[in-house]
Amino acid sequence: MSLVKRVLGYLNPIGHLGDRRYSMLLPFLVTLITFVISEVFAYYIAKDPLIVSLYAIFIPIVYILYFSFRFGMRGGIIVSILTVIYYFYIIYTREYTGNELEAGIETTMVLGAIFLLIGFIIGWLKQKIDLLIEEEAHEKRRLQAILQQLPVGIIVTDSKGKVIQLNKRTSDILGKKIPLGVQVGKDTFVEYEKDGKFISTSETPLYQTIHTRKPIIDKEFTIKRPDGKKRHIQINASVINNKKGKIIAAASIINDITAQKELEARKDDFVNMASHELKTPLTSLSLFIDGLNLALKAYSDERVHKSLGSIKQQVLRLQDLVSSLLDVSRLQTGKMAYNKENFRLDQLILESVEALQQTSETKRINYTNKKPSWVKGDKFRIHQVLTNLITNALKYSPEGREIKISIKQDSEKVIVAVADLGIGIAKNQQKKIFERLYQVTDPDTKTYPGLGMGLYISREIILRHKGKMWVESSIGKGSTFFFSLPRTKTVKRSIL
Ligand code: ADP
Repeated sequence: MSLVKRVLGYLNPIGHLGDRRYSMLLPFLVTLITFVISEVFAYYIAKDPLIVSLYAIFIPIVYILYFSFRFGMRGGIIVSILTVIYYFYIIYTREYTGNELEAGIETTMVLGAIFLLIGFIIGWLKQKIDLLIEEEAHEKRRLQAILQQLPVGIIVTDSKGKVIQLNKRTSDILGKKIPLGVQVGKDTFVEYEKDGKFISTSETPLYQTIHTRKPIIDKEFTIKRPDGKKRHIQINASVINNKKGKIIAAASIINDITAQKELEARKDDFVNMASHELKTPLTSLSLFIDGLNLALKAYSDERVHKSLGSIKQQVLRLQDLVSSLLDVSRLQTGKMAYNKENFRLDQLILESVEALQQTSETKRINYTNKKPSWVKGDKFRIHQVLTNLITNALKYSPEGREIKISIKQDSEKVIVAVADLGIGIAKNQQKKIFERLYQVTDPDTKTYPGLGMGLYISREIILRHKGKMWVESSIGKGSTFFFSLPRTKTVKRSIL
């Protein structure tokens, strides 16, 4: 059975498109044997030598078509030549004379030329197709080799999320060999974790990008591999459209960022430890200065009091910096705790404004809206956010300019806006200023001191309150920082 299958497979011309091995032996032997059988049949079975004229044209045509399509030009040419020889053999053995002989030779010449032409054209087309298929296969193999050897993991799916392509690096990172044909969103490859929680298969980047058609950019996950090891990965995923905008595939690129993450964690640990170590002596220093101030109260030399005041100021600044460093490290490690309660945001703003107005004589902070706005959150942390935004507004605007604070609310949320008429922020920097340790590096703004931690801490605090923070700004005209917080739905208050 398998032999029959193999023979049929060998003879099938369609199955050999792209195969550039062209045999001459098979067309030669098959044609020769056919003509021998034809002669035996004519002389010994039909006993009519002239009977061959019935099929002598039909059979060679079929053979030329078949062999040129199976073995290229060689197949067609060999059958044509053998046919012409056979025709001359017939003319000779049937002893044609006179007009019959002339017509026989003419017909043989014309048919020979036609057969050669057909064999040549079909054979040439077949060889051209083979070449194209081989080039395409070569290109495919080249792309495969590139894909396999890329230092990042790559998964490609069809438009429905069935995996059609992936490279070795993917299996290395995920710690598991993923078979082709598995379905994204249905079959589990590995366990993905985000913010400490395992996510469902329908939340994986490839599934998300296929269903929302939006690209996934630099998303970080932790995966638990089958060997129990955890790895940090960064994924970019996107659908791939054809020229008409129809999805033809989706691809995701996986980067192993475990080493980078471990280094970051070590750095965070160091900052955390250093800040803790700095906190204690600074608190003592501050207390000593207060004690010294008290002890020297009676001392009349103004210069001593001025110096002590300056020292206290610097210590307070240092304490601020250290607590910001601690906050950054708490946010990084997810250890920031929030004591949430219902409180009036409008009153908290008022308190912050009053406290900060005292730090600046030349810039007025204008806050008029006093409508009660109840929110639920950590009052201390929201106060920290307000202080940061107002301090920045004061810091980044010139003398004499006003800072305006307003509050708006709808049924869902309260939005606070802190507007200044200061130096402003360029469009391309507006997202980045909320990143950790980011500062605008414009030579004009370089003179302002800071470490780029305030906005990062503020935004993270607001996000953890299920709110949002954003900025609208234009260079030279000023900036308005907004944050929203969900409104407390109903606040039960005692009427007594
Ligand atoms: P810091 O002020 O300590 O540098 P922040 O995180 O508070 O850090 O701010 C990050 C950067 O955003 C600042 O360095 C500054 O360039 C820019 N920025 C923040 N607030 C304003 C503002 N009101 N006007 C102009 N630029 C601002």
